[in-house]
Amino acid sequence: MGRFRYITNRTLLNSENKETGRISVLVRADSDTAEVKYKCPECGFEEQTQKPWKRPFSVKCAKCGFLIRLPRLKDEIKKAKKRK
Ligand SMILES: [Zn+2]
Repeated sequence: MGRFRYITNRTLLNSENKETGRISVLVRADSDTAEVKYKCPECGFEEQTQKPWKRPFSVKCAKCGFLIRLPRLKDEIKKAKKRK
């Protein structure tokens, strides 16, 4: 088992608000690079890629150019508030 700074799995909505895509993002503890795997909700293209890790995080579909954003989850916001 590795240690991770960030790890998530999300479903993605297309422009008609249907859950047709997904994304998983993984950032290792000693790394600033996000390992990304996505299925574009617009065209169904699947790719595994790497990107510099930053928030807010987004990936562009390599096939159709659809911008895939990683929305903040409500529970992540709650956790951030608790840290004060
Ligand atoms: Zn696409």
